[in-house]
Amino acid sequence: MKEIILCKLGEIVLKGLNRSAFEKLLIKNIKKSLSSVGTCDISCKQSTITIIPQDDFFDIDIAVSKLQKVFGIVAISKAALCEKDFSEIVKIAKEYLYLPLSMAKTFKVNAKRSDKEFPMNSPQICAELGGELLETFSNLSVDVKNPQVTVTVEIRDRFAFVSCEKFQGAGGMPIGSNGKCALLLSGGIDSPVAGYMIAKRGVSLCCIHFYSYPYTSERAKEKVLDLAKIMTDYCGEMKVFIVPFTKIQEEIKKNCKEEMFTLVMRRYMMKIAEKIALSQNASGLVTGESIGQVASQTLSALAVTDDAVSIPVFRPVIGMDKEEIVQISKKINTFETSILPYEDCCTVFTPKHPKTKPVLKYVVYEENKLDKENLINEAVENVEVIIL
Ligand code: ATP
Ligand code: MG
Repeated sequence: MKEIILCKLGEIVLKGLNRSAFEKLLIKNIKKSLSSVGTCDISCKQSTITIIPQDDFFDIDIAVSKLQKVFGIVAISKAALCEKDFSEIVKIAKEYLYLPLSMAKTFKVNAKRSDKEFPMNSPQICAELGGELLETFSNLSVDVKNPQVTVTVEIRDRFAFVSCEKFQGAGGMPIGSNGKCALLLSGGIDSPVAGYMIAKRGVSLCCIHFYSYPYTSERAKEKVLDLAKIMTDYCGEMKVFIVPFTKIQEEIKKNCKEEMFTLVMRRYMMKIAEKIALSQNASGLVTGESIGQVASQTLSALAVTDDAVSIPVFRPVIGMDKEEIVQISKKINTFETSILPYEDCCTVFTPKHPKTKPVLKYVVYEENKLDKENLINEAVENVEVIIL
């Protein structure tokens, strides 16, 4: 008996003429995600991707856990592959589903017949297979409304599949189907979640981190790289740009009014990020800001930050409470790393009384006290690039 994996596609199926391009991209992403598991045959038909292992070492459970992080898939099931012969289907259902069926009290059979040449229709498959299973498993009775086990039989073009276990997929759209953005990644809780949410909509990412050595330690940088590494499970390969930011921060501290330190600093971050984004063909910036979370995230402060760049700034967690963001960070495994206690460059030069209702022209006035072009160019030229 051969065990295989079936993946149900999400929104892609609504994509009219572009659908096959989306499917090809998803197959490519699946191939990459399973490359370390072993060789397999991957094909797509009728809103389902079928994955058939081609070597004995292919671990189905590891493959399922990897597939649960691939955007574009809404549900995953492990299934047994059968010839399209009813007595074979019955035999394999009894054998493959022996454990769940012998432990359950109630079940139902769900049949899907996309090959209309198959001699039995769906209600006949349900009735006859149900009868066979009742005979073999005396512990079982049928419950069509709320069964403990649902046995699914799919009659497709080449084979039939029998399954009962279903796993939730990550949903969303395949990475790479909706362009590219640059994520401003701090070591905090919010920015990895913001990146995850934008990636879920099919946007591929590169990350930019501002690093203020020696005010922030080597460990703080390692922590950000660890976060980016965790994100690659969902986002695929990513470039991380580490920007040396110490000199700009020191210049801000020396020249600008203290109450505007953070805003001036954030405008410099945005301008540098924009340059890097454009060099990478990324068409927007992503941050983990949420309205009112800190002084630099009031509506007027966000407007001052936005004004620094001409590409769009996306903030997927803008309307979320911290607790909601924490829930997602736990789900995507970044929480434990995010809460490790290393300083971020934002917190090093925090003013005692930051402006919460800044006026743009006064912030720009402070910003212009620095040798702007040269500082920005120097930071961009000295960026360290790490590929994860
Ligand atoms: P987070 O939890 O993501 O650190 P935060 O609530 O601490 O966010 P801020 O420190 O004000 O908020 O930062 C707001 C956003 O600015 C972050 O979500 C991130 O996108 C970006 N950011 C902050 N610090 C850095 C940094 N050192 N490098 C890159 N981006 C940063
Ligand atoms: Mg932060």
